[in-house]
Amino acid sequence: MEIALFCARVNVLILLLALCSPCNFIQSPMDFGPLSFLQNTSTASVDFGRILFNSPSAVLRPQSSEDVSLLLSFLSSSSLSRVTVAARGAGHSIHGQAQALDGIVIEMDALPSNIEIHKKGEGMVGVSYADVSGGALWIELLHESLKHGLAPRSWTDYLYLSVGGTLSIGGISGQTFKYGPQVSNVLQLDVVTGTGKLVTCTPTKSPELFFAVLGGLGQFGIITRARILLQDAPEKVKWVRAFYDDLDTFTGDQELLISMPELVDYVEGFIVLNEQFLHSSSAAFPTHLDFAPEFHSHGRSKVYYCIEFAVHDDGLKNASTEEVVEEIARGMSHLPSHLYSAEVSYYDFLNRVRMEEMSLRSVGLWEVPHPWLNMFVPKSGIKALKDLLLENISPDEFEGPILLYPLLRDKWDTNISVVLPDAAGGAAEDERVMYIVGVLRSANPASCAAECLRDLLRLNRGIADAASAPGIGAKQYIPHHPSPSHWREHFGRRWERLAARKARFDPLGILAPGHGIFPRISSASSSSSSL
Ligand code: FAD
Repeated sequence: MEIALFCARVNVLILLLALCSPCNFIQSPMDFGPLSFLQNTSTASVDFGRILFNSPSAVLRPQSSEDVSLLLSFLSSSSLSRVTVAARGAGHSIHGQAQALDGIVIEMDALPSNIEIHKKGEGMVGVSYADVSGGALWIELLHESLKHGLAPRSWTDYLYLSVGGTLSIGGISGQTFKYGPQVSNVLQLDVVTGTGKLVTCTPTKSPELFFAVLGGLGQFGIITRARILLQDAPEKVKWVRAFYDDLDTFTGDQELLISMPELVDYVEGFIVLNEQFLHSSSAAFPTHLDFAPEFHSHGRSKVYYCIEFAVHDDGLKNASTEEVVEEIARGMSHLPSHLYSAEVSYYDFLNRVRMEEMSLRSVGLWEVPHPWLNMFVPKSGIKALKDLLLENISPDEFEGPILLYPLLRDKWDTNISVVLPDAAGGAAEDERVMYIVGVLRSANPASCAAECLRDLLRLNRGIADAASAPGIGAKQYIPHHPSPSHWREHFGRRWERLAARKARFDPLGILAPGHGIFPRISSASSSSSSL
């Protein structure tokens, strides 16, 4: 064993020399002891954003947590190297967050998924949970857990994202108001820190690492395994859409819905800017929408709003889903006769964005640049934020959805690394509510080439800056900032905690260089810390 480890270390050294060498002599897959590196880096330099294409020098396809640990232990103890490392889950970042220019990308999908389902009541198990690899996709976990009649409680809208990738940012969807984000539904993590230590952590065991890693943008460690809370899965879901022509009424109804968690299982919403959105967002919704809004009347543009909510057929409510929806709808103020519903399987409901993906792929509009911008907005700033968006966006030309829906602050643990906006002050119930706003634009290269894409990125930066000013007080979700000083501003009073956690768990700044938060430091200029 010791000899094997020694060989592996020598071979990692050879790899590092190769990475540092100008002629870069590794040309094809190579095994270094137990570690298998690829030099075909084409997938590792592309992400969903299609804005940045930073090539690493090598790609590691790990077979176990130990492989990840071996690489990071070596890099953190080698004074030779300034090599950085990025974990890549499903590569659905927008701004190269899972890329490592001239460094090493660890393709987490190479880890065996090894999904183990534990059902409440079996053996000594007090709650249902799944143990799953950090590189597994949420859709894989859904398939496996449904075989046991179970499913995670909290989701993202799209399921072809990795468990480690979404736990590194938060993980939000229409269930978040009820169960909190995905990071609030984790019981335990196996993490390899930037110094190569493999640590099993929970809210009470190595809690500092546990909370740092959740929403930690990959800065403190690589999640190789996660224990995710499960609940009984419903077979069917009543999926409802209702339309509005006024922001206040729309958000009023959204807030009404999230005040009824005993009846409502999912709440989201969109700004409806044009016909194209109505068409593409209906790819999965099986009921015909008899809604023909007038986007232009009397020489003025008009926007509409759509609430989407769902009621699970889970046997926990004392009425059919039809009756529950009727009861809820009685209190709502949507446009008369513009409430539509459909009964779908739970699986189809959760996997609805896959149908949109297929529809966009069929017309070549999936693999295009995506200058996306996501923000948390205090309730007090939501009207100003909507005005800011409409001043900066041309409704007729915008391609893609704009999501806007409420979340509850107290569903977010303040120890995790995600930064939420400060509450503006006001009635306690109002302060509890904040919004997530996702400006999810596609830039079709047929009509928007390189210069146009640069303009859109500048526009997003302007919106993000204006939205973060005191009048609105927003914070970016899945943040992207151009410089370390912007990052300091983003973290604000939480910067010191972030920097202390970085110094403790990744003192050389090896991990997740794509965010540009911390510089890489050579071990010669730093004294390594221990856990
Ligand atoms: P990657 O892009 O591979 O990585 C993202 C970051 O996490 C990088 O910094 C990377 O280094 C780090 N990382 C990856 N794996 C690990 C690991 N195992 N351990 C530590 N760090 C790791 N988000 C939502 O919250 N809700 C949504 O509804 C939602 N819908 C989306 C729909 C689409 C079509 C897309 C493209 C994105 C969506 N997102 C959503 C955003 C998505 O959750 C994030 O971009 C997420 O980080 C992507 O996961 P990934 O596996 O592709 O991560």
